[in-house]
Amino acid sequence: MPADRSDQDQKWEPAVPIPVAPMFEWPPKPLGVLRFFAWKQFWPGGAMWIAAAWLCWWYATPDLASMHDFEVGWIAFLWLRNTAIVTVLAGSLHWWLYVRRGQGTTTKFNERWPRKSERFTFGDQTLDNVFWTIASGVTVSTGFEAVGWWMFANGHTPYRDFAGNWPYLIILTVFTFYWSNAHFYANHRLLHVGKLYDWAHSVHHRNPNPGPWSGISMHPIEHLLYMSPPVLLWFIPGHPVVTLTLLFFSLLSPILTHTGFERVWLGNVDNDGASFLSGDYFHQLHHRYFECNYGNTLVPLDKVFGTYHDGTPEAHVAMRERQRSAGRS
Ligand SMILES: [Zn+2]
Ligand SMILES: [Zn+2]
Repeated sequence: MPADRSDQDQKWEPAVPIPVAPMFEWPPKPLGVLRFFAWKQFWPGGAMWIAAAWLCWWYATPDLASMHDFEVGWIAFLWLRNTAIVTVLAGSLHWWLYVRRGQGTTTKFNERWPRKSERFTFGDQTLDNVFWTIASGVTVSTGFEAVGWWMFANGHTPYRDFAGNWPYLIILTVFTFYWSNAHFYANHRLLHVGKLYDWAHSVHHRNPNPGPWSGISMHPIEHLLYMSPPVLLWFIPGHPVVTLTLLFFSLLSPILTHTGFERVWLGNVDNDGASFLSGDYFHQLHHRYFECNYGNTLVPLDKVFGTYHDGTPEAHVAMRERQRSAGRS
């Protein structure tokens, strides 16, 4: 295996090979698939985004009737609400893991701590990431949200209530996760092509050693592509809370998957207290090596297109081979 700098920085090695979601495994494992649908797919990430969407729909979203016309007031409210949610989630994880260093480097993928560097806006990874997350990420997400509410308020998107339509709306909610992940592979692959990488995606890739604020630290062009999955929901019958689930999945889930730690403990790591899975080693490998793992394991399009790095030395050799035959050493 080539000893590049990123290899040497590696610290925590999770179990490999990284498996795909069980419904894509062969031979089929029906029990594994059932367990996945009933539990693993939604815990903790999916359940958090669904709960956040319901809570915000009930308590922190203006009436649809008041969003009939685009007005600064309600759009500013949405922006402030989204900024607050992002800041609480990313800020608390950052404080615990990187300021307090509450669990040291336990399950930290990269043993180094983020450093100041001229490649970052303001010369500092955290300030850079906070800036691009709030100024661009929250703003673009809020823009997609505002258009979605305007579409519902004006009857352009057919409204379906949960009473009478709950099976359809539950299936639609589950579908949004698959749609978003397939969309992610496509837009991410595109962002690695030519000038799009230089202009836009390089902002996200300033972070080979990501932290919570790196998750949606992206250029506005990337935000426009990456956060566009809800556009599909503008044109099919649905419920605002399904749209909000998809918006929150795009806006919030990268904060969790970019923590840089595989598992986060809510207290003393030695007491075997409450903990939850956070970082996504599959995507961490993308930050480390760039030319693999454009998607994720839920919709494993990397398997289909030959870019799946499962963390094993064999997968690493195959990736280097692929790079060599593409003219890069
Ligand atoms: Zn990333
Ligand atoms: Zn990338």
